[in-house]
Amino acid sequence: MSIADNIARIKSQLPPSVELVAVSKFHPVERLQQAIDAGQLLLGESRAQELAAKAPQLPQQVKWHFIGHLQTNKVRPVVAHATIIESIDSLRLLQAVEMEATRTSRQIDVLLQLHVAQEQTKTGFAIEELLTHATLQRLDNLSHVRIRGIMAMASLTDDNSQIQREFTLARNAFELLRDEFFAHQPHFDIVSMGMSDDWRIAVDCGSTMVRIGTAIFGPREY
Ligand SMILES: *Cc1c(COP(=O)(O)O)cnc(C)c1O
Repeated sequence: MSIADNIARIKSQLPPSVELVAVSKFHPVERLQQAIDAGQLLLGESRAQELAAKAPQLPQQVKWHFIGHLQTNKVRPVVAHATIIESIDSLRLLQAVEMEATRTSRQIDVLLQLHVAQEQTKTGFAIEELLTHATLQRLDNLSHVRIRGIMAMASLTDDNSQIQREFTLARNAFELLRDEFFAHQPHFDIVSMGMSDDWRIAVDCGSTMVRIGTAIFGPREY
């Protein structure tokens, strides 16, 4: 199956309200161009240097989603190229992005990454920690960063009921945040969850954005 076929097949199964991010990390720009030619303009990358290398080689219309763990000392190329950083996993990182966006007079959208999986290796805010008054207060007063919603990854497991539990936790946390904290801010509307192996479950649990790599581009060559 070609990249274009894969995109068409997935899109035909996605509800029209769910956006598809094609995760292109570790694939060469020639393959990204095939996705773009098929009309896929949302691309996801997970490393700052790789994003900085690829973005200038591809059309301006591409909207880059940054989805990987980001260190505060690498925000510069990401703020320069990404339209949205989906992987804000600490207040420190949020502040670093705000500072860099302010310095370069850019506006950037972000998602708060929630830690709902069992694996300790995955990063993100613990929901209880995020919902404390002290943390929520610090999400206010951003001048160049707009918080658009949440991103979450489920555990790597065959147990679909566990994946469903984790996505439901994330969706519920999104709704709580939306209703309690981002009320009157209609742009707080993104729930990014679901990858190649679990996007159907994620959509059933209320995802509005799936991030799919392998099922579009094939296995990655690390
Ligand atoms: C790599 C990656 C994906 C895509 O994973 P696939 O299993 O290849 O679809 C999605 N989200 C994040 C955060 C990733 O790092």
